Amino acid sequence: MTRGVIEPGATVGVMGGGQLGRMFVHAAQAMGYFTAVLDPDPASPAGRVAHWHIQTGYLDEQGLAQLMQRSAAITTEFENVPAAALVTLGAHRPVAPGARPVAICQDRAAEKAQFERCGVACVPYAVIETAQQLVGAASLLPGILKTTCLGYDGKGQIAATTSDELAHAWDEMKRARCVLEAKLSLAAEVSVILARSASGDIAHFPLQRNVHRGGILAVTEVPARIDAAIERQAIDATCALAESMDYVGVLCVEFFVLDDGSLVANEMAPRPHNSGHYTIDACDVSQFELQVRALTGLPLVKPRLHSSAVMLNLLGERWFAAGGDIERPPPWGDVLALDGVHLHLYAKLQPRHGRKMGHLTITAASADAARAVAREAAARLGIAY
Ligand code: ADP
Ligand code: MG
Repeated sequence: MTRGVIEPGATVGVMGGGQLGRMFVHAAQAMGYFTAVLDPDPASPAGRVAHWHIQTGYLDEQGLAQLMQRSAAITTEFENVPAAALVTLGAHRPVAPGARPVAICQDRAAEKAQFERCGVACVPYAVIETAQQLVGAASLLPGILKTTCLGYDGKGQIAATTSDELAHAWDEMKRARCVLEAKLSLAAEVSVILARSASGDIAHFPLQRNVHRGGILAVTEVPARIDAAIERQAIDATCALAESMDYVGVLCVEFFVLDDGSLVANEMAPRPHNSGHYTIDACDVSQFELQVRALTGLPLVKPRLHSSAVMLNLLGERWFAAGGDIERPPPWGDVLALDGVHLHLYAKLQPRHGRKMGHLTITAASADAARAVAREAAARLGIAY
């Protein structure tokens, strides 16, 4: 579709109604857009705040037709949105990101092939589709077997040290198409988020440093306190990947920094990212505003980090901190009494173990001050930092 600017007052649509969609909706509404969300869940976080919530499956023809009828342009908020749905939508409306880059990011093997095509180093790996390939890949052990599709937050992954464990892990995964990655010793995890417009302009955020626990993002810190040359390398790699896919929208690339200081790409997300939530409170333009701008053809501007920030994810287990099955919300008043603490909750009705219920962003004039307040906030909530 050819693209003019879609001015405020129009409706923008989003496939998926999770927290990322919710924050996209907030940003779009702040700029005067109307919003439509397609998500089958009647209680979806974004559906609750959008002007229109279309409650159908992602491949439902009527649902897609309604979304197109409502929306001048459509984006996506989760990477497992069926690429076929984006193809359908893209025939009639600007869709950003498009079906092709989303399909690449949905498939760990295709994603790694894209890294290689762009000369971006990635984790040593092998694609596993046959028992013979599994045997041949044993030299990568100790490793992590990951399903190529539909994994998130550490799901769809099993660590294996021996060939026997590997064979068992693949059986557990019902012999689905997988990649086996060497398990690397990580000095740090970092990510880069950028937005790219249809005309090829790029605006990126600074490097973020991320801490994962149990495969789920727990903490993001900015500035990342990583060597400037590594930051440059990560940003250049992310720009090269976006250009190679003719990407339009917000893209995140996760990287590992290894013990020897080298950088390898882990995975990409074709959408705003949990490690960019701090941009709402610590930058003059958030990742969600850039998603709106990239989608509507408004100019992209370079975001300015005006505060140091620490982001702490709030997972469902914190609601059961009292022990057992007793559900009790955390003491918000205690943490909100601290300077620079910003609370974001996604209005999910049922806290569950590992479920992302919300996050805190702590902003301060210096990284040390942000970390000190984050330590205190984490202590008051009884969560790790
Ligand atoms: P997800 O899609 O669930 O985010 P990732 O591949 O990013 O999957 O894995 C989640 C986390 O598991 C990573 O952020 C990292 O902490 C750890 N991890 C994943 N792959 C490796 C690896 N090859 N070596 C070491 N740690 C890894
Ligand atoms: Mg990841």
